[in-house]
Amino acid sequence: MEVVKQGFEYKVYQDAQELSLEDRTLMDSAVEQLPKAYAPYSGFHVGAAVRLADDSIFVGSNQENASYPLCMCGERVALYNAAANKPDVAPITLAITIKNQKLKITTPASPCGACRQVIAEYAQRHNQPIRILLKADSDEIFEINSIEDLLPLGFNASFL
Ligand SMILES: [Zn+2]
Repeated sequence: MEVVKQGFEYKVYQDAQELSLEDRTLMDSAVEQLPKAYAPYSGFHVGAAVRLADDSIFVGSNQENASYPLCMCGERVALYNAAANKPDVAPITLAITIKNQKLKITTPASPCGACRQVIAEYAQRHNQPIRILLKADSDEIFEINSIEDLLPLGFNASFL
């Protein structure tokens, strides 16, 4: 028997001024999506923006439904938007931000399990790691190097 230890490191920026101009622009695009979210039930708004390898940016926000299971997360809307428009161009960086209308959340929220699986799919599809920038209702920003850090031992096409 062998015990395998797996962990990961991520960066914490005090504010967006510490980011590169490219990343700051991307996070700004995500923040701009917050008021466009359709979240009448939860009041939990998610804004997302993805930068592709050709430097284009596609955005998304969460879309809720009275039939709750049909709700769609903002980061998936952004990724699907990008994939539908430029299926052959790899996503490079994904910025995600949140704002809860009911309470102030200062710690960046990371993607739900379903979104992690979807991010992993696009990373594998293009054989290109996707960096993830996370921000909540404060200046602090987390940077995750790749989805493999958030979804270790993930299920993927290699099993099929
Ligand atoms: Zn999600």
